[in-house]
Amino acid sequence: MADYDLAIIGGGLNGVSVARDAAGRGLRVILLEQGDLGAGASSASPRLIHGDLAVLERRAFLRVRAALAERDIWLRIAPHLVRPMRFAIPVHSDERPPWLLRSGMLLYDRLASRTRLPPSATVDVTHHPIGNALKRPFGTAFEYSDCVVDDSRLVTLNAVDAAERGAVIRTGARCVRADRLDTWRLVAIDRGHRLVITARALANASGAWTASVAETVLRVPQPEGGTTQISQIIVRRLFDTDNVYVFQNIDRRLIFASPYERDFTLIGTVGHAFKGDPAVVSMAAADVAYLCDAANRYFRERVEPSDVIRTVSGANAVWDPTGEHAGRDGSMAFDARRGKAPLLTIAGGDVTTSRLRAERAVSRLTSFYPMSPRWTAKAPLPGGDFAWEKFGEEVDGARERWPFLTEPQAQRLVAGYGSRLQDVLGDAKDRAELGPAFGQELTGAEVRYLMAKEWARFPDDILWRRSKLGLTMPARAREALAAFMATASP
Ligand SMILES: Cc1cc2nc3c(=O)[nH]c(=O)nc-3n(C[C@H](O)[C@H](O)[C@H](O)COP(=O)(O)OP(=O)(O)OC[C@H]3O[C@@H](n4cnc5c(N)ncnc54)[C@H](O)[C@@H]3O)c2cc1C
Repeated sequence: MADYDLAIIGGGLNGVSVARDAAGRGLRVILLEQGDLGAGASSASPRLIHGDLAVLERRAFLRVRAALAERDIWLRIAPHLVRPMRFAIPVHSDERPPWLLRSGMLLYDRLASRTRLPPSATVDVTHHPIGNALKRPFGTAFEYSDCVVDDSRLVTLNAVDAAERGAVIRTGARCVRADRLDTWRLVAIDRGHRLVITARALANASGAWTASVAETVLRVPQPEGGTTQISQIIVRRLFDTDNVYVFQNIDRRLIFASPYERDFTLIGTVGHAFKGDPAVVSMAAADVAYLCDAANRYFRERVEPSDVIRTVSGANAVWDPTGEHAGRDGSMAFDARRGKAPLLTIAGGDVTTSRLRAERAVSRLTSFYPMSPRWTAKAPLPGGDFAWEKFGEEVDGARERWPFLTEPQAQRLVAGYGSRLQDVLGDAKDRAELGPAFGQELTGAEVRYLMAKEWARFPDDILWRRSKLGLTMPARAREALAAFMATASP
């Protein structure tokens, strides 16, 4: 008998979502990730949970409606990670006419008719806080509801849930060979050791590595297609309101400027074809300038390339076995030749539809194994067992329970851990009981929790993926964190 029912190569959003779905349906699952969870494209997404206005413009109404239904599912199952926001599109005289935008908004509302989020509205920005950050000529904006998500934590918490349902998650484990007989035999280099396992089915969820894994590891035909890159910039906070601004760029591309952590703004995206090593994806200077120019058409405060604090880039495979536009749905192929163990290939797609994509992918295996029905739409992710409207109450509750937390600290911790915050802070009565401090926010207790429960091994795993504290942590605190992690046992 094979060791596992399903082995997955890749711990990005697609891989962990498949792992969660399959483990919850009773399959014996192992996931191999060569680096850290979410270290590829999945930490470089635009962080939007949305129906997608660009898709609406292409008249793909059913896709928009399906995505809006997924948006509501995310709000229910991940109320800590997913935050409803009001998105504002300032009307620009050179861009889409106001009647077109307004009709689009009304259609968007209709397609999301079951949501509890407020509908769209027209705003006079000359008398509204939205206008404070904008250049003078703007008089009107359209406001609508959508959500933003912490993409990296979404990856990790999917993996935590998968593990709690029995999946084995191995980070630092690179799959180097897979032989296909009536079962798969996989060889991985697992933190320096050779690991050999067998599995009845295999999922290639290796993102931008999909083609090279197919060619060199699985030795099956490569999926045809290419690799694309998207990039974003992080600058100091450009506005005080809790809105996402949507700008219509001169090339008609929509550019989003979102509040990022407390003190920053994320502006993106810009995308194009990618060639090279997916482990090293960097943003071209021309792309930085493009996003600065887009922001400068709208915001009063100028943004120059020298103001960019960090760039965020990721690459992913884009191929489409059906010949249709793969786009936001991503790409999926299922190969189940007679006498050969099944192979599932899944790549790309947006964050909003990732749960559904994984559900569909795992459902392809139902003719091979008995498995329980679809379940992921109803089960909260770890820490997400509260209503999204009660986020503020969760924060207040945390401050009562741990009075030494400031409001911003409690906000960050509840947004990261939800109702599992108890497991991080325990019965601490004051800050000192949480161990050494690394900068203003991070404590030894949180680091230990992340090492023990969320597979954090190195400082970057914590500073850029389990949190974004790398944006504010001083160099000295980073060194102390590295020293602490080198000796701390999880
Ligand atoms: C170009 C681009 C466009 C995007 N557009 C959108 C969008 O419009 N909207 C939106 O919401 N999101 C978008 N996203 C982000 C979206 O988050 C990703 O498409 C999604 O996260 C899918 O990630 P993945 O799991 O397929 O890949 P990844 O996150 O890259 O994960 C693949 C993982 O496989 C691992 N791996 C590779 N080879 C091996 C091996 N041999 N052994 C073990 N592990 C291996 C890698 O280390 C990596 O962690 C976009 C991303 C990109 C890059």
